[in-house]
Amino acid sequence: MKNITSYNFHQKKAIIRVDFNVPLNAQYEITDDTRIRATIPSIKKILADGGSVILMSHLGRPKNGPEEKFSLVHLIPDLEAKLNLKVKFAPDCIGEEAALIAKNLQPGEVLLLENLRFYKEETNGDEAFAKKLANLADVYVNDAFGTAHRAHASTTIIANYFNENKLFGFVIENELKSIDSVISASSKPFTAILGGAKVSSKITIIENLLGKVDNLIIGGGMTYTFIKAMGGQIGNSLVEEDYLETAKSVIKKAKEAGVKLMLPVDSLNGDAFDNEANRSVSDIDAIPEGWMGMDIDEKSIKAFSETILNSKTILWNGPMGVFEMENFQKGTKEIATAITKATANGAFSLVGGGDSVAAINKFNMAKQVSYVSTGGGALLEYIEGKELPGIKAIRG
Ligand code: AMP
Repeated sequence: MKNITSYNFHQKKAIIRVDFNVPLNAQYEITDDTRIRATIPSIKKILADGGSVILMSHLGRPKNGPEEKFSLVHLIPDLEAKLNLKVKFAPDCIGEEAALIAKNLQPGEVLLLENLRFYKEETNGDEAFAKKLANLADVYVNDAFGTAHRAHASTTIIANYFNENKLFGFVIENELKSIDSVISASSKPFTAILGGAKVSSKITIIENLLGKVDNLIIGGGMTYTFIKAMGGQIGNSLVEEDYLETAKSVIKKAKEAGVKLMLPVDSLNGDAFDNEANRSVSDIDAIPEGWMGMDIDEKSIKAFSETILNSKTILWNGPMGVFEMENFQKGTKEIATAITKATANGAFSLVGGGDSVAAINKFNMAKQVSYVSTGGGALLEYIEGKELPGIKAIRG
């Protein structure tokens, strides 16, 4: 497999699948440029070698062809400022105009193609569409980890048209390195902290992690399904009745596997799902009727933090409570803090999955953990042990 550091892009046209799916405000200004920033090293490496770059991405979820609000043209000013050069734009990602601009592209130049998802062929993984994209370039670089679990035209199918000349960009390379080091967990104890709303969306990863971790900390909304399964009173807290048996089986499997399963012992409750709700604290299994658990409280924070501080490998996915509400963010913030402290003490910490990334950014702690993954679904599927089509297309 080729490698971006050693590959010489001199006189080569490289088509890079990037993840430019960034949030835009009503004026089409970028409100979070993390994903664009992440791809700059790959672009610069190719340009520095004397190659040219063709960028392709999706943005949003257009339903039926082109829509102004999903046009990648809005990203040009930001991209030009970051690269300090003029960026060309093809208003259709395939077709004669794109082919002509790509053909005339000179070393050191950058071309951005319009949103791939203006064609349903992209998500359908259409071969003819992938081939048209492939024809624009000499080498294919995949640098979009967030879509690596999709067998789309630009993430997977296109690789078939490049023989040896296909490789990962720095974003995917770093993602794989970081996630692999967590999965192999050569440094122990290995602690996984799983939170978020539902057991149902995390069950596969929980089961997969039971074979790997020393400690499994569970917090957030899914806690209450576990507590109810054990006979506790959870008041009006979030619960998935269909998953009570699943929760029981996780508890049993954890015991059998010798994994220390930690659930919260106390709960910060609200009398409504609202930041301004009245608050009360109770034991986790004695939440009164009319109240719902919305965050973990002091005793849980202390117990979880101690375990985290003693860990050498840490995976965090999902908040400990309704962290979007100021009055219920403390548990998530304290756990994030414990992770940053453990990291400062030499642990390897990986934070991934949409809401924990949003949380770590909200608390301005992203720089104090080892790695913040750009992948949501892709990260979870990779950790679950699934083969991601976009990774396989290059790795073989
Ligand atoms: P997920 O996408 O599954 O990781 O879930 C994240 C969401 O879970 C966030 O929007 C949190 O507000 C929500 N959440 C966390 N704890 C609770 C809770 N105790 N009750 C309701 N929702 C929660």
